[in-house]
Amino acid sequence: MNDKTLLIMAELEDNNLKPVTFDLVAAALKMTGGATRSILMAVTGTSPDAAASEAASRTGIDVLAVTVTASITSDIRKQAAAFVAGEFAPSYILCPHSAEGTDYAPALAVRLNAACISAVSGVVIDVDGNLLFSRSICGGQFNALIKPATSPAVIMIQPGAFQVQAYEGTAGAVETTTFEAGPGALRMNGVEKSRETSSELDKAKVIVSAGRGIGEPGNLDAIRRFAALFPGSAVGGSRPLIDMGWLEYRHQVGITGATVSPSVYIACGISGSTQHIAGMNGSGYVIAINSDPNAAIFNYSDLCIVDDIMGFIEAFEDFIKNGEG
Ligand SMILES: Cc1cc2nc3c(=O)[nH]c(=O)nc-3n(C[C@H](O)[C@H](O)[C@H](O)COP(=O)(O)OP(=O)(O)OC[C@H]3O[C@@H](n4cnc5c(N)ncnc54)[C@H](O)[C@@H]3O)c2cc1C
Repeated sequence: MNDKTLLIMAELEDNNLKPVTFDLVAAALKMTGGATRSILMAVTGTSPDAAASEAASRTGIDVLAVTVTASITSDIRKQAAAFVAGEFAPSYILCPHSAEGTDYAPALAVRLNAACISAVSGVVIDVDGNLLFSRSICGGQFNALIKPATSPAVIMIQPGAFQVQAYEGTAGAVETTTFEAGPGALRMNGVEKSRETSSELDKAKVIVSAGRGIGEPGNLDAIRRFAALFPGSAVGGSRPLIDMGWLEYRHQVGITGATVSPSVYIACGISGSTQHIAGMNGSGYVIAINSDPNAAIFNYSDLCIVDDIMGFIEAFEDFIKNGEG
């Protein structure tokens, strides 16, 4: 496993691969022009061997299963990643821009004295062959192209930003190692899972999502009525609505909520932050209704409707009822 210039840090839950790992693979392949040879994936956990074999066969990438002799915390993840980086000296270390990734990747960069680029949603190769990483800034109004000035550089990949392709070729090689974790600065006292049940977002054919643009919680009734017009639909929401207690967490779409891929996604009064887009980018057909013609959500939409959301729903209901709007 020599000549590995690009290290992917897989993300696991209960020693199983999380889907975001394959987002990292998609980004890595974009960086190498599709070649797997220079890529190494580290699968780190208390019992990572099965996940490592799965990763190797599903991607064709060589995988290092790193068994960690301690309960996993963000501090231990950082230590293990630094250990693997020390062995292979990669130029780029890809971590997910997930809740877990944001917990250790910046600290890893500090540990390695490396640049850290967060929320990366695109890769560009310039005329001189340099890799540039794009991420949105200013709430999605602009895109920045960034070239790291260090090697290694820690690149945090926005979940859902890269097109994941199925792989059916030869499996990559799997090697194993053990990482004797030092005393961590943190101690894990346990993980409590949410008791909330699913909101049907994962099964819905159509998702009607409400954002802060709906104005007040009472207007959710109109959103629910609007959603009910589409068979197999469910109601989603942007994070502010969950933070304000207007909707329960199980309805949240985005990087810290659900990742959804319905046939149709209807965004109602949602601005289109990268954190929201990360959760709905896999939708088949996106319709956005927003009163601001420059809203970032329109950059991700197939049908852009510039209108007041409540006025639009009222007119739509009239049209369904009376055939005119
Ligand atoms: C670590 C982190 C994680 C996050 N995770 C998530 C996540 O998982 N999901 C998520 O959604 N966000 C997440 N966020 C928050 C995210 O950054 C945005 O703040 C949020 O998505 C904005 O929600 P919004 O579009 O509903 O509100 P706003 O950004 O306030 O946008 C409201 C939109 O409504 C439009 N509008 C106003 N009035 C009307 C009207 N009458 N009719 C039609 N349109 C109207 C406005 O033009 C505007 O575009 C996260 C942020 C952080 C820092």
